[in-house]
Amino acid sequence: MQITAETPFKASIVPLPLSNIAQGFSSITSSAARVARQATLNQAITCVGIGLHSGARVRMVLNPAPVDHGIVFKRSDLPESRLIPARHDHVVCTRLSTVIAHPDAPDIRIATIEHLMAALHANGIDNALIEIDGPETPVLDGSAAEFDFLIQCAGTVMQEPARSFIEVLRPVRVEEASGAYAELRPARSGMALAMSIDFAASVIGQQRHAMPLTLERFRQEVGFCRTFVERKEIEALQKMGLARGGSLHNAIVVEDDTVLNPCGLRHPKEFVRHKLMDAVGDLYLAGHTLQAGFMGHKSGHGLNNRLLHALFASPENWRLVDGERAEQPVLRATA
Ligand SMILES: [Zn+2]
Repeated sequence: MQITAETPFKASIVPLPLSNIAQGFSSITSSAARVARQATLNQAITCVGIGLHSGARVRMVLNPAPVDHGIVFKRSDLPESRLIPARHDHVVCTRLSTVIAHPDAPDIRIATIEHLMAALHANGIDNALIEIDGPETPVLDGSAAEFDFLIQCAGTVMQEPARSFIEVLRPVRVEEASGAYAELRPARSGMALAMSIDFAASVIGQQRHAMPLTLERFRQEVGFCRTFVERKEIEALQKMGLARGGSLHNAIVVEDDTVLNPCGLRHPKEFVRHKLMDAVGDLYLAGHTLQAGFMGHKSGHGLNNRLLHALFASPENWRLVDGERAEQPVLRATA
């Protein structure tokens, strides 16, 4: 299956024996829903592409996983198999992307997980094992749309246990001297996000976007929005070993008032919408979806991660709620 007509990336559905993880599956849905049940993929699916920053060609397999497994990454190219749960406290770098590593082996890392995490979050996938034979996820088209497509192709299986979620109990805020900030506030239900940005480049300028997190709104408004970079930054980034896989096929490149991509933008506010999509992915590193309102101003991977650390710094800030008993807390959180 060819993902797009203009890129060399390929995806193919790879059946996986489900005999060892089938317990608890109760039904199959073609589109994921934000329901009270846990969910995983119906079958494994593979794609091949290059990493945005490493430039390395990698093969990634999204596998189903049993209940209460969570989203877990694995470097399939390394002889010693180590699992890296996608959690905020396993993040080791937030410069231009979110990088996680094994807590006992910091060299075993996987970079640029945020767009895949956003697609998994929006699709309500609670349990998946992500195998990658290199140090970075494939960038695909620079958005979450093709990860979302892969998840759609694999299908979603509802699992019997209820989905737990994290309820934010009081406002939590982190900020920088630049005026950038990220904040979580209590919400009566679900998750909503608002993001604003302010760039000197006139083609970006000031932009704002807000939306509730539903799969439909994610697909319609932010999932397709690509990462972006200013042309003047590219040479310095590549000298630092970053953006080596970047191209006009997988990133918007801007220069003052001009978008250099021949096909232009996918949406006039593609920039802020991409930053909001990044936050959807970064916040899923809480380990569960949140019942909260998120507000970010010029917030990127670093502030998003600091926000989760601040949230979990005090048990007064949050509680884990069993979806089966959503009206009452069943477990007081511990940091
Ligand atoms: Zn991004």
